[in-house]
Amino acid sequence: MDSKVPKLLIIGFDGLDYEIFSRRSKLGLTVHPLFAPVPVTGPSWTSIYTGDSVSTHQVRNVFGLKYRKRYSNIDSLQKAIWLGRQFFRFIRRRKMQSLSATPADTPSKYIWQSLSDAGVQMKIVAMPITCPVKEVNGVWVGGFPVVKRQRWYWPEDIAPQIPDDYYEQADIIQWFMDPESDSHRKWKRQFRQMSFEEITEKTTRNAIKLADFFSSLPCATVEAVQFSFVDRIGHGFGISGKYEQFCYELVVKIIQKLVDARKPESTMVISDHGFAGDDHTDYGCLALGGEIADRVGLSPGYTPSVLDIAPTLAGYFGCEHPCEGNDLTAGGSYSTRSSDSDEAEKAKIVENLKNLGYF
Ligand SMILES: [Zn+2]
Repeated sequence: MDSKVPKLLIIGFDGLDYEIFSRRSKLGLTVHPLFAPVPVTGPSWTSIYTGDSVSTHQVRNVFGLKYRKRYSNIDSLQKAIWLGRQFFRFIRRRKMQSLSATPADTPSKYIWQSLSDAGVQMKIVAMPITCPVKEVNGVWVGGFPVVKRQRWYWPEDIAPQIPDDYYEQADIIQWFMDPESDSHRKWKRQFRQMSFEEITEKTTRNAIKLADFFSSLPCATVEAVQFSFVDRIGHGFGISGKYEQFCYELVVKIIQKLVDARKPESTMVISDHGFAGDDHTDYGCLALGGEIADRVGLSPGYTPSVLDIAPTLAGYFGCEHPCEGNDLTAGGSYSTRSSDSDEAEKAKIVENLKNLGYF
């Protein structure tokens, strides 16, 4: 039996809103707002992992994907099948699909690589936009979109431990579609046909299974896991009334369950943006418990941003991670970078998402 406990447990929630979480969670964590200059899933999580702005890390797609325009690496049979499908979509006046999408790559360095290089043991499960996974000092099971055609877990020999329904546990969207090849509209239409009872039962069951799978993997110094139901339920039904109550009660239950199971020295709850009513908000959460809550000192008037997470983790573990954000453990007086480029990025991305029917 391994009696070690993690030094830091990171629990991510896509779309966990600062205002709602501060009002509804009574967990004894110190809750700060976490500003998301581009409050969109793919770009914002990538800022969390790299500490860089969207203009620098260049991941702009909501799912963190890049659509292929050239088909040179696809064999001719696959291309013929695709052309046939598009023909039938065309005569039924359906929107054309791209032949395939591929995970966007970034020139920025992930914090997981910096921590691994420094010898810190990692366990990363279901963090969004992390497929294909790379070699890491520990275990890494990729998060939404789970791209099964490429390497989505590390090391190879953990395959038997990954549950058969991990794909469904990792994200509600994956109950309905392959995010790499289907359109955004498909999952929302089918999701909205489910009853409140069906949704809450299946969401709870999958979130608990994911938490149990995460806890069953060997202990590491840094352990990170993410749940995306707040954002997905928000996109289907909005975050208010019974949906808000369900989501935030489940958030609290999952945090308590994981803290009880893992007994970490420090806990960090993070999100990529908020979600209130029918829209994303600019303020996600940075909630801290244990030793790290005392180590993070915020100068008056400074609001931490998604760019500050990676350098703060580097600071907490005493390793190097060059990026644009601030190390919140350094105790300095921080300045916020100019937001002109962020505003331009945000406008462009939101316009794109509206065209896709995402909002
Ligand atoms: Zn999101």
